[in-house]
Amino acid sequence: MASEATEKVHVLIIGSGPAGYTAAIYAARANMKPVLYQGIQPGGQLTITTEVENYPGYPEGIQGPEMMVHFEKQAARMGADIRYGLATKVDFNKQPYRVEIDEEKWIEADAVIISTGASAKWLGLESEQRLNGFGVSACAVCDGFFFKGKDVAIVGAGDTAAEEALYLSKLCTTVHMFIRRDQMRASKVMQDRVLNAPNIKVYWNTDTDEILGEKKVEAVRVKNNQTNETQEIPISGFFVAIGHQPNSDIFKGWIDMDETGYIKTIPGTTKTNLEGVFAAGDVQDKNYRQAVTAAGSGCMAALDAERYLTSKGLA
Ligand SMILES: Cc1cc2nc3c(=O)[nH]c(=O)nc-3n(C[C@H](O)[C@H](O)[C@H](O)COP(=O)(O)OP(=O)(O)OC[C@H]3O[C@@H](n4cnc5c(N)ncnc54)[C@H](O)[C@@H]3O)c2cc1C
Repeated sequence: MASEATEKVHVLIIGSGPAGYTAAIYAARANMKPVLYQGIQPGGQLTITTEVENYPGYPEGIQGPEMMVHFEKQAARMGADIRYGLATKVDFNKQPYRVEIDEEKWIEADAVIISTGASAKWLGLESEQRLNGFGVSACAVCDGFFFKGKDVAIVGAGDTAAEEALYLSKLCTTVHMFIRRDQMRASKVMQDRVLNAPNIKVYWNTDTDEILGEKKVEAVRVKNNQTNETQEIPISGFFVAIGHQPNSDIFKGWIDMDETGYIKTIPGTTKTNLEGVFAAGDVQDKNYRQAVTAAGSGCMAALDAERYLTSKGLA
């Protein structure tokens, strides 16, 4: 059984990606004394990428891990209390809300900001992990530009995969699209767009065997799962678009979510169905999924929390 040791804090932020650190910067500057728990991936998803070129303020681009060190330093300089630890359970039965950390202690908070992000789903190949950031990516909007005028491949069959394939088709020479079955899951209109794009080549019943290349992606070996025939296709970039998993399991049953686990917020705000609990970043956004949008909603969450605490006389 978890220990009953309890600490009371004013504002608790769960997660240390762009959303969490931005919420921490705003909350600290508003004197809300935020305590932030980083989770198992301090810095969030950008710590597993290389170059980030689309975050404003870095004209030369920046390495993802380095950018997140900047976020952390800025939050710390403003006075945020940043701690290593994982939220393992919540009890949102009554206020102040309770969050268990590392199955060891409980934190009570007047307001909670959930910024636990989402994780891209991967195929599980060794080469995919080894070449991640060196031609392998889970985000066409983030990394498509690096492959302008080159041949790339994408795997996935849903609406997001179709959208990403179309996005890549505007930048790249040829987009090879691998689909496991003999049909796509994407909506009819998206399928039509993909199938009519002159430079998207669709391969049905096709599995990815291995991504090839020593230091960067050079080709992909695919197998037709009906005929077992394999072929190698030279490419420079390999995009995985088989879905994302929001990190929201511990909030199930407490916070309203959609069928895939994305936290529902009141449009135009970061408010959840529970007064005093706010959600920011990818955990509540399956649409944009960018560092700058996550940071923007982190700012909104801190402002929403500040207004909430003021309205309750708790500020
Ligand atoms: C390979 C790759 C490349 C990308 N490149 C770009 C790019 O170039 N430009 C761009 O704008 N976007 C890019 N993105 C997308 C961008 O990384 C995300 O949109 C952004 O990081 C989302 O921020 P977030 O704060 O919502 O969550 P995340 O970055 O997902 O961070 C979530 C945080 O929550 C923590 N956490 C999770 N569960 C718990 C828990 N139970 N307790 C405590 N903490 C918890 C994690 O440890 C982590 O710190 C890329 C994504 C990937 C995967």
